[in-house]
Amino acid sequence: MTIRHHITDQLLMGYSAGQLPEAFNLVIAAHLSFCDECRARLGAFDAIGGALMGECDSVAMMESSLTATLDRLTQPAPAPRLRRKACKVLPAPLVDYVGGDLASVKWRSIGMGVRQAILPTDAGATARLLYIPAGQKVADHSHRGMELTLVLQGAFSDETDRFGPGDLEIANDDLHHQPVAEEGPDCICLAATEAPLRFNGLLPRLAQPFLRI
Ligand SMILES: [Zn+2]
Repeated sequence: MTIRHHITDQLLMGYSAGQLPEAFNLVIAAHLSFCDECRARLGAFDAIGGALMGECDSVAMMESSLTATLDRLTQPAPAPRLRRKACKVLPAPLVDYVGGDLASVKWRSIGMGVRQAILPTDAGATARLLYIPAGQKVADHSHRGMELTLVLQGAFSDETDRFGPGDLEIANDDLHHQPVAEEGPDCICLAATEAPLRFNGLLPRLAQPFLRI
């Protein structure tokens, strides 16, 4: 897999510091599972974060803190969470959310052959899987906030560039784009959006509240 579009320093820092909404964390974790380069950069940010914590002033704690911590040592460890393996298209972090491989995805049609499945995350942003048939255009739209799109299978192009497997497109408020899936395998993406998208055609705009896009 040749990855050409990576996570920005700003997003990696936010991920390392635990400051991003869950949907963004999911997209970034999925990209990291494909990308050695971003994993190495994340390691550097984690090290900086650790060093900064060492420099922080100490904070007063409750008197019971030490006893409470020692008490926890005698409690049984929680049952280990079963980690699922990556499947052919879905990376491991995503398999946990879907509850299995691609066959477990509960797709919902949003018109013109395009399907989506919204994944359960906290309210700060929305994560969805998108299935775009080869050659199909997605309704053109701009954004009110940031949109991250990670390609899992196939490829798409828009006004900015081409995005293939493992590539991450980061779209901000100023981008108005119309992604088109390439010929070949159907395009499957994982997308996270900060706020509802702003569709330009009337029909998609009317359908927006019902489709939660
Ligand atoms: Zn990367």
